[in-house]
Amino acid sequence: MLKENTTFQQLHKYYNLRRSYCGTGNLGHVYSYRQDRVNPITCNRLTCVKCRPKLKKQIHLDLLRLIYDNDLDNHMVLTFPGKKARQRFTYSQSYDILTHEWNKFRKLIKYHFPDFKWIRMPRAQTNPFPGNPIGYCHEHLITNSPRHKITGRKLDHAFLEEKRKRYKIGYAKIRENQDVAEYLSKDFFHDEEWIIPINLRHVITDSTMILKPGQGYAMDPDNIYYTRNADFKTIEHSIMLKHNQPAPFYLYLREFSQIEPKILSGHYVDENLVTPMIKNKETRSL
Ligand SMILES: [Zn+2]
Repeated sequence: MLKENTTFQQLHKYYNLRRSYCGTGNLGHVYSYRQDRVNPITCNRLTCVKCRPKLKKQIHLDLLRLIYDNDLDNHMVLTFPGKKARQRFTYSQSYDILTHEWNKFRKLIKYHFPDFKWIRMPRAQTNPFPGNPIGYCHEHLITNSPRHKITGRKLDHAFLEEKRKRYKIGYAKIRENQDVAEYLSKDFFHDEEWIIPINLRHVITDSTMILKPGQGYAMDPDNIYYTRNADFKTIEHSIMLKHNQPAPFYLYLREFSQIEPKILSGHYVDENLVTPMIKNKETRSL
């Protein structure tokens, strides 16, 4: 497990490894009805180099659905403040600070724009330059376009820039439509940006939205889950019971090839038994 004072380089290394128990069978196995295969269960963590790509794709799909359902057409970016703050705080503290500031800032926005909706994605700075070291937090937010409760004006850059000055927020910008699509098709997948402290969530929604309602891929009701000790007979039996079909053919092959030939005692030449022992007496072979 990583410690509190982990450097960004150590964190980076951790994100580029597979978790030691992932896909080894230690977590058990799952029968996928669609693939007709029994696969070792993976860890399904965004910190795991093996699991991250498929999770990112799934999150992407889930985000598109939320964006469509809730008319989220703004892309907002918030940054951690500049040079001074970056000398004073570590990259990992920048996440806690920006989260804390956001929680105050969003309440202020909500006060003026009661219909405000948002999805927040804390991400890592990946283009370091002097005064702006690697790993510090910035946030991508996808929001709707709420109207001001009195003036009826849309939430815009000018409002954010003016108000954010009361908080520890470097800058705030907001752009419409095309920017959301562009972010989701490009920078969203930029893997280095996903390297954030491991105890943090990569996507946070406001309380009106849920990123993954119901069942995702892992919970496919046609799948069958096994503990790590399940044997071939158990697997064969459960697939027959649930889907009325035999276990995948390759499993039968494996099962039969694992039955070891009985090694007879006797005298061998080139692995051929030439003089088998019968009742402890050697006899001439056939
Ligand atoms: Zn994994």
